[in-house]
Amino acid sequence: MDTPPSAPHRPQAAAHAPATEAVHAGREDLTALGLHAAPLDLSTTYPSPDSRGEAARLDAFAATGAQLSGPPVYARLDNPTTARFERALARLEGTESAVAFASGMAALSAVLLARGAAGLRHVVAVRPLYGCSDHLLESGLLGTEVTWAEPDGVGAALRPDTGLVLAETPANPTLAEMDLDALAARCGDVPLLVDNTFATPVLQRPRDHGASLVLHSATKYLGGHGDVLGGVVACDEGQARALRQIRFATGGVLHPLAGYLLLRGLATLPVRMRAQSAGAAELARRLAADPRVERVHYPRLGGAMVAFEVAGDPHEVIGAVRLITPAVSLGSVDTLIQHPGSISHRIVAAEDRRAGGISDRLLRMSVGLEDVEDLWRDLDAALAASAATAVPSATALVP
Ligand SMILES: *Cc1c(COP(=O)(O)O)cnc(C)c1O
Repeated sequence: MDTPPSAPHRPQAAAHAPATEAVHAGREDLTALGLHAAPLDLSTTYPSPDSRGEAARLDAFAATGAQLSGPPVYARLDNPTTARFERALARLEGTESAVAFASGMAALSAVLLARGAAGLRHVVAVRPLYGCSDHLLESGLLGTEVTWAEPDGVGAALRPDTGLVLAETPANPTLAEMDLDALAARCGDVPLLVDNTFATPVLQRPRDHGASLVLHSATKYLGGHGDVLGGVVACDEGQARALRQIRFATGGVLHPLAGYLLLRGLATLPVRMRAQSAGAAELARRLAADPRVERVHYPRLGGAMVAFEVAGDPHEVIGAVRLITPAVSLGSVDTLIQHPGSISHRIVAAEDRRAGGISDRLLRMSVGLEDVEDLWRDLDAALAASAATAVPSATALVP
Protein backbone atom coordinates (compact mmCIF):
# COMPACT_ATOMS: atom_id res chain seq x y z
CA MET A 1 0.00 0.00 0.00
CA ASP A 2 1.17 3.40 -0.85
CA THR A 3 -0.12 6.81 -1.56
CA PRO A 4 -1.91 7.85 -4.66
CA PRO A 5 -0.13 10.82 -4.96
CA SER A 6 1.76 12.40 -7.37
CA ALA A 7 -0.08 15.54 -6.54
CA PRO A 8 0.22 17.94 -9.40
CA HIS A 9 2.90 20.51 -8.86
CA ARG A 10 2.08 23.03 -6.19
CA PRO A 11 4.20 25.74 -4.62
CA GLN A 12 6.44 24.43 -1.87
CA ALA A 13 6.55 25.78 1.65
CA ALA A 14 9.61 27.79 2.71
CA ALA A 15 12.74 25.67 2.71
CA HIS A 16 14.47 24.51 5.87
CA ALA A 17 18.23 24.13 6.21
CA PRO A 18 19.65 21.37 3.96
CA ALA A 19 20.27 18.96 6.86
CA THR A 20 16.58 19.23 7.79
CA GLU A 21 15.34 18.94 4.21
CA ALA A 22 17.52 15.86 3.73
CA VAL A 23 15.60 13.90 6.37
CA HIS A 24 12.10 15.36 5.88
CA ALA A 25 11.63 16.42 2.24
CA GLY A 26 9.59 14.13 0.01
CA ARG A 27 7.89 12.50 3.00
CA GLU A 28 5.08 15.07 3.34
CA ASP A 29 2.36 12.48 2.69
CA LEU A 30 3.45 9.92 5.30
CA THR A 31 1.55 11.28 8.29
CA ALA A 32 -1.75 11.19 6.40
CA LEU A 33 -0.95 7.58 5.44
CA GLY A 34 -0.31 6.76 9.10
CA LEU A 35 3.28 5.78 8.33
CA HIS A 36 6.68 6.74 9.68
CA ALA A 37 9.04 5.12 7.14
CA ALA A 38 8.44 5.66 3.43
CA PRO A 39 6.68 2.64 1.87
CA LEU A 40 7.92 0.80 -1.21
CA ASP A 41 5.33 0.36 -3.99
CA LEU A 42 6.49 -2.23 -6.54
CA SER A 43 3.23 -2.32 -8.56
CA THR A 44 3.63 -2.30 -12.31
CA THR A 45 -0.07 -1.57 -12.81
CA TYR A 46 -3.03 -0.22 -10.84
CA PRO A 47 -6.79 -0.78 -10.94
CA SER A 48 -8.48 1.53 -13.47
CA PRO A 49 -12.23 0.90 -13.06
CA ASP A 50 -13.22 4.22 -14.63
CA SER A 51 -11.84 4.03 -18.17
CA ARG A 52 -13.52 7.27 -19.27
CA GLY A 53 -11.75 9.07 -16.47
CA GLU A 54 -8.44 7.36 -17.30
CA ALA A 55 -8.76 8.44 -20.94
CA ALA A 56 -9.07 12.05 -19.84
CA ARG A 57 -6.12 11.77 -17.46
CA LEU A 58 -3.92 10.16 -20.13
CA ASP A 59 -4.90 12.84 -22.65
CA ALA A 60 -3.89 15.49 -20.11
CA PHE A 61 -0.50 13.81 -19.59
CA ALA A 62 0.09 13.50 -23.34
CA ALA A 63 -0.76 17.17 -23.83
CA THR A 64 1.22 18.63 -20.92
CA GLY A 65 3.54 16.10 -19.21
CA ALA A 66 2.14 17.24 -15.84
CA GLN A 67 2.23 14.49 -13.24
CA LEU A 68 -1.02 12.53 -13.14
CA SER A 69 -3.33 13.58 -10.36
CA GLY A 70 -5.09 10.75 -8.59
CA PRO A 71 -3.93 7.14 -8.40
CA PRO A 72 -1.09 5.86 -10.62
CA VAL A 73 -2.01 3.99 -13.83
CA TYR A 74 1.14 2.21 -14.95
CA ALA A 75 4.67 2.18 -13.55
CA ARG A 76 6.32 3.69 -16.64
CA LEU A 77 4.13 6.77 -16.14
CA ASP A 78 4.31 7.29 -12.44
CA ASN A 79 5.35 5.68 -9.15
CA PRO A 80 4.72 7.14 -5.69
CA THR A 81 7.97 5.81 -4.18
CA THR A 82 10.08 7.37 -6.92
CA ALA A 83 8.02 10.57 -6.70
CA ARG A 84 9.10 11.00 -3.06
CA PHE A 85 12.76 10.85 -4.08
CA GLU A 86 12.06 13.39 -6.84
CA ARG A 87 10.35 15.82 -4.46
CA ALA A 88 13.19 15.51 -1.94
CA LEU A 89 15.94 16.07 -4.51
CA ALA A 90 14.12 19.10 -5.95
CA ARG A 91 13.97 20.58 -2.44
CA LEU A 92 17.69 20.00 -1.90
CA GLU A 93 18.66 21.50 -5.28
CA GLY A 94 16.24 24.42 -4.87
CA THR A 95 14.30 23.66 -8.06
CA GLU A 96 10.56 23.39 -8.70
CA SER A 97 10.71 19.77 -9.85
CA ALA A 98 12.92 16.76 -10.49
CA VAL A 99 12.54 13.77 -12.81
CA ALA A 100 14.27 10.48 -12.01
CA PHE A 101 15.69 7.99 -14.51
CA ALA A 102 17.22 4.53 -14.58
CA SER A 103 20.79 5.92 -14.54
CA GLY A 104 22.73 9.13 -14.98
CA MET A 105 23.15 8.34 -18.67
CA ALA A 106 19.40 7.75 -19.10
CA ALA A 107 18.84 11.18 -17.50
CA LEU A 108 21.28 12.90 -19.85
CA SER A 109 19.80 11.05 -22.84
CA ALA A 110 16.32 12.30 -21.93
CA VAL A 111 17.54 15.91 -21.77
CA LEU A 112 19.21 15.60 -25.19
CA LEU A 113 16.10 13.96 -26.69
CA ALA A 114 13.84 16.65 -25.22
CA ARG A 115 15.96 19.44 -26.72
CA GLY A 116 16.20 17.59 -30.05
CA ALA A 117 12.41 17.13 -30.11
CA ALA A 118 12.14 20.92 -29.77
CA GLY A 119 14.26 21.26 -32.93
CA LEU A 120 17.37 22.35 -31.01
CA ARG A 121 19.92 19.64 -31.77
CA HIS A 122 23.12 21.60 -31.26
CA VAL A 123 24.92 21.29 -27.90
CA VAL A 124 27.84 23.35 -26.62
CA ALA A 125 29.87 21.44 -24.03
CA VAL A 126 32.95 22.08 -21.90
CA ARG A 127 35.57 19.34 -21.43
CA PRO A 128 36.31 17.36 -19.40
CA LEU A 129 33.03 15.58 -18.84
CA TYR A 130 32.32 12.13 -17.47
CA GLY A 131 33.66 9.72 -20.13
CA CYS A 132 30.31 8.37 -21.29
CA SER A 133 28.74 11.85 -21.43
CA ASP A 134 31.63 12.91 -23.67
CA HIS A 135 31.09 9.80 -25.80
CA LEU A 136 27.32 10.32 -26.10
CA LEU A 137 27.86 13.85 -27.43
CA GLU A 138 30.92 13.12 -29.56
CA SER A 139 29.28 10.08 -31.23
CA GLY A 140 26.09 11.98 -32.08
CA LEU A 141 24.24 8.79 -31.17
CA LEU A 142 21.03 10.67 -30.30
CA GLY A 143 21.13 12.98 -33.32
CA THR A 144 22.80 15.83 -31.48
CA GLU A 145 25.76 17.81 -32.79
CA VAL A 146 28.38 19.04 -30.33
CA THR A 147 30.75 22.01 -30.29
CA TRP A 148 33.42 21.72 -27.59
CA ALA A 149 34.33 25.06 -26.00
CA GLU A 150 36.43 26.50 -23.21
CA PRO A 151 34.26 28.13 -20.51
CA ASP A 152 34.96 31.64 -21.86
CA GLY A 153 34.32 30.52 -25.45
CA VAL A 154 30.79 29.26 -24.76
CA GLY A 155 29.08 32.49 -25.87
CA ALA A 156 30.90 32.47 -29.23
CA ALA A 157 29.98 28.82 -29.82
CA LEU A 158 26.20 29.37 -29.51
CA ARG A 159 24.08 29.06 -32.68
CA PRO A 160 20.40 29.68 -33.39
CA ASP A 161 19.78 25.91 -33.07
CA THR A 162 21.75 25.49 -29.81
CA GLY A 163 19.45 23.76 -27.34
CA LEU A 164 21.78 23.16 -24.44
CA VAL A 165 25.09 24.10 -22.81
CA LEU A 166 26.60 21.30 -20.75
CA ALA A 167 29.32 21.53 -18.09
CA GLU A 168 30.60 19.67 -15.03
CA THR A 169 32.16 21.39 -12.05
CA PRO A 170 34.13 20.00 -10.30
CA ALA A 171 34.67 17.95 -13.44
CA ASN A 172 35.17 14.21 -13.73
CA PRO A 173 38.03 13.18 -13.45
CA THR A 174 40.34 16.23 -13.14
CA LEU A 175 38.19 18.08 -10.57
CA ALA A 176 38.61 21.24 -12.70
CA GLU A 177 36.29 23.97 -11.46
CA MET A 178 34.59 26.79 -13.27
CA ASP A 179 32.77 29.96 -12.34
CA LEU A 180 29.11 29.01 -12.79
CA ASP A 181 27.74 32.57 -12.59
CA ALA A 182 30.07 33.67 -15.41
CA LEU A 183 29.26 30.57 -17.46
CA ALA A 184 25.49 31.03 -17.02
CA ALA A 185 25.81 34.67 -18.13
CA ARG A 186 27.47 33.52 -21.37
CA CYS A 187 24.62 31.12 -22.16
CA GLY A 188 22.04 33.85 -22.77
CA ASP A 189 18.66 32.20 -23.29
CA VAL A 190 20.09 28.73 -23.87
CA PRO A 191 19.52 26.42 -20.89
CA LEU A 192 22.66 25.52 -18.98
CA LEU A 193 22.84 21.95 -17.65
CA VAL A 194 25.33 21.41 -14.84
CA ASP A 195 26.31 17.88 -13.85
CA ASN A 196 26.44 18.26 -10.07
CA THR A 197 27.31 14.62 -9.32
CA PHE A 198 30.65 15.44 -7.65
CA ALA A 199 29.62 18.42 -5.53
CA THR A 200 26.06 17.34 -4.60
CA PRO A 201 23.63 20.03 -3.39
CA VAL A 202 25.43 19.93 -0.05
CA LEU A 203 28.42 21.79 -1.50
CA GLN A 204 26.92 23.57 -4.50
CA ARG A 205 23.46 24.37 -5.85
CA PRO A 206 23.92 25.21 -9.55
CA ARG A 207 20.37 26.61 -9.76
CA ASP A 208 21.46 29.44 -7.44
CA HIS A 209 24.20 30.30 -9.98
CA GLY A 210 22.02 30.45 -13.09
CA ALA A 211 21.94 26.81 -14.26
CA SER A 212 18.48 25.77 -15.42
CA LEU A 213 19.00 21.99 -15.32
CA VAL A 214 20.97 20.09 -12.66
CA LEU A 215 21.92 16.51 -13.44
CA HIS A 216 23.03 13.76 -11.07
CA SER A 217 24.31 10.31 -11.48
CA ALA A 218 22.34 9.32 -8.36
CA THR A 219 24.41 6.13 -8.45
CA LYS A 220 27.17 8.08 -6.73
CA TYR A 221 26.69 10.30 -3.64
CA LEU A 222 22.87 10.47 -3.58
CA GLY A 223 22.61 6.69 -3.14
CA GLY A 224 25.91 6.72 -1.31
CA HIS A 225 26.31 2.99 -0.66
CA GLY A 226 27.30 1.57 -4.03
CA ASP A 227 24.15 -0.52 -4.36
CA VAL A 228 21.79 1.48 -6.56
CA LEU A 229 21.95 2.80 -10.12
CA GLY A 230 19.94 5.93 -10.88
CA GLY A 231 19.87 9.37 -12.43
CA VAL A 232 17.87 12.54 -11.88
CA VAL A 233 17.38 15.97 -13.44
CA ALA A 234 16.32 18.87 -11.19
CA CYS A 235 14.74 21.73 -13.14
CA ASP A 236 11.68 23.94 -13.43
CA GLU A 237 8.26 22.34 -13.94
CA GLY A 238 8.11 23.26 -17.64
CA GLN A 239 11.29 21.34 -18.40
CA ALA A 240 10.21 18.52 -16.07
CA ARG A 241 7.04 18.04 -18.14
CA ALA A 242 9.04 17.58 -21.33
CA LEU A 243 11.32 15.11 -19.53
CA ARG A 244 8.38 13.08 -18.14
CA GLN A 245 6.96 12.75 -21.66
CA ILE A 246 10.35 11.53 -22.94
CA ARG A 247 10.66 9.12 -20.03
CA PHE A 248 7.18 7.70 -20.68
CA ALA A 249 7.90 7.27 -24.40
CA THR A 250 11.42 5.85 -24.10
CA GLY A 251 11.09 3.90 -20.85
CA GLY A 252 14.23 4.88 -18.93
CA VAL A 253 12.37 4.79 -15.61
CA LEU A 254 13.99 4.39 -12.21
CA HIS A 255 13.02 1.14 -10.50
CA PRO A 256 10.91 1.85 -7.38
CA LEU A 257 13.36 -0.06 -5.16
CA ALA A 258 16.07 2.30 -6.44
CA GLY A 259 13.77 5.26 -5.70
CA TYR A 260 13.30 3.91 -2.16
CA LEU A 261 17.06 3.49 -1.63
CA LEU A 262 17.81 6.93 -3.05
CA LEU A 263 15.33 8.64 -0.73
CA ARG A 264 16.92 6.77 2.15
CA GLY A 265 20.38 7.79 0.93
CA LEU A 266 19.44 11.47 0.81
CA ALA A 267 18.76 11.47 4.55
CA THR A 268 22.46 10.98 5.33
CA LEU A 269 23.86 12.90 2.34
CA PRO A 270 24.87 16.04 4.28
CA VAL A 271 26.59 14.13 7.06
CA ARG A 272 28.32 11.73 4.64
CA MET A 273 29.53 14.59 2.45
CA ARG A 274 30.95 16.48 5.42
CA ALA A 275 32.77 13.46 6.86
CA GLN A 276 34.06 12.13 3.51
CA SER A 277 35.19 15.62 2.47
CA ALA A 278 37.18 16.02 5.69
CA GLY A 279 39.00 12.73 4.97
CA ALA A 280 39.61 13.70 1.35
CA ALA A 281 41.02 17.12 2.29
CA GLU A 282 43.47 15.49 4.70
CA LEU A 283 44.59 12.91 2.14
CA ALA A 284 44.97 15.64 -0.51
CA ARG A 285 47.19 17.58 1.89
CA ARG A 286 49.42 14.53 2.56
CA LEU A 287 49.63 13.61 -1.13
CA ALA A 288 50.61 17.19 -2.05
CA ALA A 289 53.51 17.01 0.41
CA ASP A 290 54.69 13.62 -0.88
CA PRO A 291 57.65 13.49 -3.31
CA ARG A 292 56.21 10.35 -4.98
CA VAL A 293 53.29 12.45 -6.18
CA GLU A 294 53.74 15.06 -8.93
CA ARG A 295 50.46 16.84 -8.79
CA VAL A 296 47.30 16.82 -6.68
CA HIS A 297 43.91 18.07 -7.84
CA TYR A 298 41.51 18.96 -5.04
CA PRO A 299 38.64 21.41 -5.56
CA ARG A 300 38.57 24.77 -3.77
CA LEU A 301 34.93 23.90 -3.18
CA GLY A 302 36.00 20.81 -1.17
CA GLY A 303 34.37 17.43 -1.69
CA ALA A 304 35.29 13.78 -1.29
CA MET A 305 37.10 13.26 -4.60
CA VAL A 306 40.88 13.57 -4.93
CA ALA A 307 42.82 13.18 -8.17
CA PHE A 308 46.60 12.92 -8.31
CA GLU A 309 49.39 12.27 -10.77
CA VAL A 310 52.09 9.93 -9.54
CA ALA A 311 55.77 10.12 -10.40
CA GLY A 312 55.92 6.32 -10.85
CA ASP A 313 53.61 3.93 -12.65
CA PRO A 314 49.94 4.57 -11.77
CA HIS A 315 48.98 0.97 -12.63
CA GLU A 316 51.25 -0.20 -9.80
CA VAL A 317 49.30 1.92 -7.31
CA ILE A 318 46.05 0.32 -8.49
CA GLY A 319 47.57 -3.15 -8.15
CA ALA A 320 49.00 -2.49 -4.67
CA VAL A 321 46.08 -1.08 -2.67
CA ARG A 322 44.60 -3.51 -0.12
CA LEU A 323 42.03 -1.59 1.94
CA ILE A 324 41.03 0.78 -0.84
CA THR A 325 39.07 -0.99 -3.60
CA PRO A 326 40.47 -0.62 -7.12
CA ALA A 327 37.17 0.07 -8.91
CA VAL A 328 35.41 2.57 -11.11
CA SER A 329 32.47 4.63 -9.77
CA LEU A 330 32.48 6.85 -6.73
CA GLY A 331 30.45 8.32 -3.91
CA SER A 332 30.16 5.23 -1.75
CA VAL A 333 30.88 4.91 1.96
CA ASP A 334 34.08 3.00 1.13
CA THR A 335 37.12 4.33 -0.72
CA LEU A 336 37.61 3.51 -4.40
CA ILE A 337 40.51 4.29 -6.73
CA GLN A 338 40.77 3.97 -10.51
CA HIS A 339 42.89 5.01 -13.49
CA PRO A 340 40.66 7.23 -15.73
CA GLY A 341 42.85 6.68 -18.81
CA SER A 342 42.13 2.92 -18.58
CA ILE A 343 38.58 2.81 -17.25
CA SER A 344 36.20 5.74 -16.66
CA HIS A 345 37.50 7.79 -19.61
CA ARG A 346 38.74 4.95 -21.81
CA ILE A 347 35.90 5.55 -24.27
CA VAL A 348 37.19 9.10 -24.91
CA ALA A 349 39.83 9.26 -27.68
CA ALA A 350 43.38 9.64 -26.31
CA GLU A 351 43.87 13.09 -27.89
CA ASP A 352 40.53 14.30 -26.50
CA ARG A 353 41.52 13.02 -23.05
CA ARG A 354 44.71 15.02 -23.27
CA ALA A 355 42.80 18.10 -24.50
CA GLY A 356 40.61 17.73 -21.41
CA GLY A 357 43.68 17.67 -19.14
CA ILE A 358 43.42 13.95 -18.33
CA SER A 359 47.03 12.81 -17.94
CA ASP A 360 47.96 9.13 -18.32
CA ARG A 361 49.47 9.39 -14.84
CA LEU A 362 46.24 10.56 -13.26
CA LEU A 363 44.52 8.48 -10.59
CA ARG A 364 41.05 9.33 -9.28
CA MET A 365 40.12 8.44 -5.73
CA SER A 366 36.68 8.59 -4.13
CA VAL A 367 37.23 8.89 -0.39
CA GLY A 368 34.84 7.02 1.90
CA LEU A 369 34.15 7.00 5.61
CA GLU A 370 37.10 4.90 6.77
CA ASP A 371 39.58 6.22 9.33
CA VAL A 372 41.98 8.54 7.52
CA GLU A 373 45.09 6.96 9.11
CA ASP A 374 44.09 3.53 7.79
CA LEU A 375 43.56 4.99 4.32
CA TRP A 376 46.88 6.79 4.41
CA ARG A 377 48.77 3.63 5.44
CA ASP A 378 47.26 1.82 2.43
CA LEU A 379 48.04 4.68 0.02
CA ASP A 380 51.54 5.09 1.42
CA ALA A 381 52.33 1.39 0.80
CA ALA A 382 50.83 1.55 -2.71
CA LEU A 383 52.87 4.65 -3.54
CA ALA A 384 56.00 2.88 -2.31
CA ALA A 385 55.20 -0.02 -4.66
CA SER A 386 54.79 2.35 -7.61
CA ALA A 387 57.93 4.33 -6.78
CA ALA A 388 59.91 1.05 -6.68
CA THR A 389 59.10 0.36 -10.32
CA ALA A 390 61.06 2.01 -13.13
CA VAL A 391 59.45 5.28 -14.17
CA PRO A 392 57.96 4.54 -17.56
CA SER A 393 57.73 7.07 -20.36
CA ALA A 394 54.34 8.73 -20.65
CA THR A 395 53.44 6.78 -23.81
CA ALA A 396 54.35 3.41 -22.27
CA LEU A 397 51.63 4.04 -19.66
CA VAL A 398 48.84 3.58 -22.17
CA PRO A 399 47.90 -0.09 -21.97
C1 LIG B 1 28.83 8.20 -13.25
C2 LIG B 1 28.59 9.53 -13.82
C3 LIG B 1 27.61 9.74 -14.81
C4 LIG B 1 26.81 8.58 -15.40
O1 LIG B 1 25.95 8.06 -14.45
P1 LIG B 1 25.42 6.52 -14.45
O2 LIG B 1 24.52 6.51 -13.27
O3 LIG B 1 26.63 5.64 -14.35
O4 LIG B 1 24.70 6.33 -15.75
C5 LIG B 1 27.40 11.02 -15.27
N1 LIG B 1 28.11 12.06 -14.79
C6 LIG B 1 29.07 11.91 -13.85
C7 LIG B 1 29.84 13.09 -13.37
C8 LIG B 1 29.35 10.64 -13.35
O5 LIG B 1 30.31 10.49 -12.41
